[in-house]
Amino acid sequence: FIEMDHIRKQFGNLEVLKDVTLHVDEGEVVSIIGPSGSGKSTFLRCLCQLETIDGGTITVDGDVMVSQPEGSRRSVYAPPAQVRAICRRMGMCFQHFNLFPHMTVLDNILEAPRIVKGMKTEDIMPTAEELLKKVGLWEKRDEYPSRLSGGQQQRVAIARALAMNPDIMLFDEPTSALDPELTGEVLRTIKQLADEEMTMIIVTHEMAFAKEVADRVIFMADGLIQEEGTPQQVFENPQNERTKSFLKSML
Ligand code: ATP
Ligand code: MG
Repeated sequence: FIEMDHIRKQFGNLEVLKDVTLHVDEGEVVSIIGPSGSGKSTFLRCLCQLETIDGGTITVDGDVMVSQPEGSRRSVYAPPAQVRAICRRMGMCFQHFNLFPHMTVLDNILEAPRIVKGMKTEDIMPTAEELLKKVGLWEKRDEYPSRLSGGQQQRVAIARALAMNPDIMLFDEPTSALDPELTGEVLRTIKQLADEEMTMIIVTHEMAFAKEVADRVIFMADGLIQEEGTPQQVFENPQNERTKSFLKSML
């Protein structure tokens, strides 16, 4: 469904992604774990085009976003309209929720479908209501983000991403800015999406959560995938020394 092959990314002389290949099936939940600075965020950002890649190819559901011609060292992007159309199928949810502070919860949900898809408010309302109920915040619809807890804000951010009806959800440490007592409610929301078979890539340092929710766990270090497997394989029987010492450090 998502095919990222031989992704390379440099910032100046720093090779952040050296040669990363990841294929994700439809409905699959993949968790990426690894030490700070290993390139996890950069990898996600390359998928949703917050960063451009230097080498490698990306295809989503058969649609080519970036290709790399035979013999060429560099990737070539599809026309901007096609790249945008592919990215629109991805919902993103990052550590800092970045809700629009001057808009109510409800308007935060309605905004992107209105602007990007040109939908009328009355046509989005049923979905907005359904999503806000799903994340348990319908009764907060007229509040401004600053009056919500971090966990509530993050759940609004998830609902906002879902309002675009994405085929894929990307999460980058969705709970790391939250107080421990607020992480559970956000993780439950993500777990619910997993149960509904949403295709997801989740960068997280919540090992217990990764173990519970992921179909497959990827351990990244030094810009490379060092090890991957089922949660049981990676957490209970890691093969790579780097994985072992990383997991020890996370205890
Ligand atoms: P963390 O667990 O701390 O979030 P990460 O695995 O997500 O780490 P990245 O954010 O992908 O790591 O960063 C990988 C490396 O790339 C780091 O050394 C970082 O300093 C560097 N880097 C990331 N973004 C940029 C940028 N825009 N310009 C220059 N260097 C960058
Ligand atoms: Mg990161």
